Amino acid sequence: GDTITVKTLAEKMRINAGEVIKKLMELGTLATINQEIDADTATIVANEMGFEVQVKVELDKEAQLMMKEPEDDAENLRWRPPVVTIMGHVDHGKTSLLDAIRHTHVTASEEGGITQHIGAYQVEHKGRKITFVDTPGHAAFTAMRARGAKVTDIAIVVIAADDGVMPQTVEAINHARAADVPIIVAINKIDKPGADPEKVKRELTEYNLVPEAWGGDTIFVEVSAKEKLNLPELLEMILLVAEVGEFKANPNRAARGTVIEAELDKGRGPVATVLVQNGTLRVGDFIIAGVAYGKVRAMMDYTGRRVSKAGPSTPVEVLGFSGVPPAGELFYTVEDEKFGKQLIDERFTKKREEEFRLSAPKISLDDLFNQ
Ligand code: GDP
Ligand code: MG
Repeated sequence: GDTITVKTLAEKMRINAGEVIKKLMELGTLATINQEIDADTATIVANEMGFEVQVKVELDKEAQLMMKEPEDDAENLRWRPPVVTIMGHVDHGKTSLLDAIRHTHVTASEEGGITQHIGAYQVEHKGRKITFVDTPGHAAFTAMRARGAKVTDIAIVVIAADDGVMPQTVEAINHARAADVPIIVAINKIDKPGADPEKVKRELTEYNLVPEAWGGDTIFVEVSAKEKLNLPELLEMILLVAEVGEFKANPNRAARGTVIEAELDKGRGPVATVLVQNGTLRVGDFIIAGVAYGKVRAMMDYTGRRVSKAGPSTPVEVLGFSGVPPAGELFYTVEDEKFGKQLIDERFTKKREEEFRLSAPKISLDDLFNQ
């Protein structure tokens, strides 16, 4: 992902690097002047120092036009399931928690359908759906954001109760904050003998994550992915945060969203798991993601069942793309297939020019004449 050295960041803000290092320390990151920090951490430091940081989004003009949707009238907006990502330090239980929730809250009949890993799934709790997206690492989260994709509504930061706050915990908190996503803290592994949830809470106060019982406004849930403890409580809290966030979309418009993952399947060709974020995607729609395009030939939900349409917050596997779109790429549908193909042609040309530019040796006029 994108990084910047402490020195460069300080220079850009015209602030003494020592001040930046001090601020980083306050935020839980120990850094030297020549150290590279990631874009999200840099954003937070800059924000704290009164600067506004713009994440650069490089889309071609046509795409920008297409992405600039007309605002949906309030009357057309409908409640949509919250989209949740689980982040945290390695081995604190992200995968276990995702699996535990899936196995506990997906009905038995659906369970048989889940044969392979899919990057996203839905569960139902008290009649309401929740979408979980497995971002395969914090870097992917940042990469998506850099492309202008905001996939997640709620971040669950997992912390092992026997280990406490670790570097990637802080990174996860920073990522969520930079993306302006509400955080739920899940203290995991409370079944372990060495578990000390209170210590974790004390540590987190340093990062302004303070439980309500202590006068703060952060939601904490103590769970065990292994023993499947308090998982319904966690889902309950997700729905509570979703209620406050009022996540809505208009199901009655052309679909757009983000590619979660994609691969070339030997039998089926390019297969992309996409998250529909607004509108409804239908079989037969002409879809574009980067330079990949095509008519949606078939769609499968997270259980592998064929579906003919997918509304807001729904993850689906899509068949019919001409190529494999990269994870994090935005997708949208166009009604006019001819216009869609024209757009793709322009993108191809641009991409080829870019590749040529990158591969060409760089020689300036000075180099040529001053030898
Ligand atoms: P990730 O790296 O964050 O995805 O962590 P994993 O889900 O792979 O878990 C790391 C290790 O912790 C594995 O050996 C899990 O079995 C174990 N683990 C995860 N959750 C729990 C839990 O609630 N209790 C206990 N005792 N072990 C857990
Ligand atoms: Mg994992």
